[in-house]
Amino acid sequence: MSYPEKFQGIAVVEREDWLNPKKVSYDPKTFGEQDIDIEIMACGVCGSDTHTAASRWGPCPNSQVVGHEIIGKVVKIGSKCEDGLKIGQRVGVGAQVFSCLECQRCKNNNEQYCTNFVTTYTGIYPNGYIAQGGYASHIRVHEHFVIPIPDEIPTELAAPLMCGGATVFTPLLRNGCGPNKKVGIIGIGGIGHMGILLAKAMGAEVYAFSRGENKRADAMDLGADHYYATGTEGWDKDLFNTLDLAVICASSLTDINLDQYIKIMKIGGSIQSISVPDVTEKLTLRPFQLVGITIGNSLIGTPQDIKTMLDIVVKNNVKIWIEKVPVGEKGVHEAWSRLEKGDVRYRFVLTDFEKEFGSEK
Ligand SMILES: [Zn+2]
Ligand SMILES: [Zn+2]
Repeated sequence: MSYPEKFQGIAVVEREDWLNPKKVSYDPKTFGEQDIDIEIMACGVCGSDTHTAASRWGPCPNSQVVGHEIIGKVVKIGSKCEDGLKIGQRVGVGAQVFSCLECQRCKNNNEQYCTNFVTTYTGIYPNGYIAQGGYASHIRVHEHFVIPIPDEIPTELAAPLMCGGATVFTPLLRNGCGPNKKVGIIGIGGIGHMGILLAKAMGAEVYAFSRGENKRADAMDLGADHYYATGTEGWDKDLFNTLDLAVICASSLTDINLDQYIKIMKIGGSIQSISVPDVTEKLTLRPFQLVGITIGNSLIGTPQDIKTMLDIVVKNNVKIWIEKVPVGEKGVHEAWSRLEKGDVRYRFVLTDFEKEFGSEK
């Protein structure tokens, strides 16, 4: 059986052997009146994918397909859809596929903080169905979480914006990143590299921070105005009272010396983290140090924020740096193995979905 009865994907089948995922076929969730079916064309490889696959956020469900940087085309539209999506239209899906859409948070562009938030994979729908992600032939999603992709953005370059891009864009947007602002991007990996590009496109003066010197050339090529290697003693000595905003793009906060970053913030400045570390991680802060500064943690981006980001990407011709890998058991294994070593500049994007899943569509 194939679509629409069955979807196919590359799934973690044996938890102990998560680095060798297998091709599976599975039942999609029941088609709802406001659902859209998308035939997938590309999917970015996010750090959350390997965290989930490796059971670092709790046991990975059986036969779990991950992936939440999805671009594809609309192939089916529910009878009660109201958002004007068309068959064949190119669209994206990020890290969220459902929420109540009725609570105060949902109604005020904060769907990711809804208590009924369903993540794109491993999320549990109200009827118990466990969501399957984008390393797959198709995805079925409520129209509210389907984002039209502007023609100007190539499919492979749009994919990582859906989670990684949105995750760093949202704290930039909501904390005043723009002209005449000095904005720090701390940690230059997949998300940090998008942070430099987006903060620059928003008009800020960008300060890039990474431990060593090895990211300096790339950070400057990406558009950073300044670079600091924080592994070097005294890196912060000329930076007292400099930044309006800093976004921490590291996957964990344990290696970040917040005391140092607090000193380089202006009064009224904000340090925002986007990290989702191991559940046991704790943050130690000395309240006295925090006088005049705010600190927070930001989770992904909403459909509205993603649309705002895509406008900025088009207007400024932002081009993220990716490496393409054909989707499939071999391709996912290769991308995950290299991601585990931090060996990627700067985001893997799975491609060739037609070739892998095409024959049975
Ligand atoms: Zn809600
Ligand atoms: Zn992600």
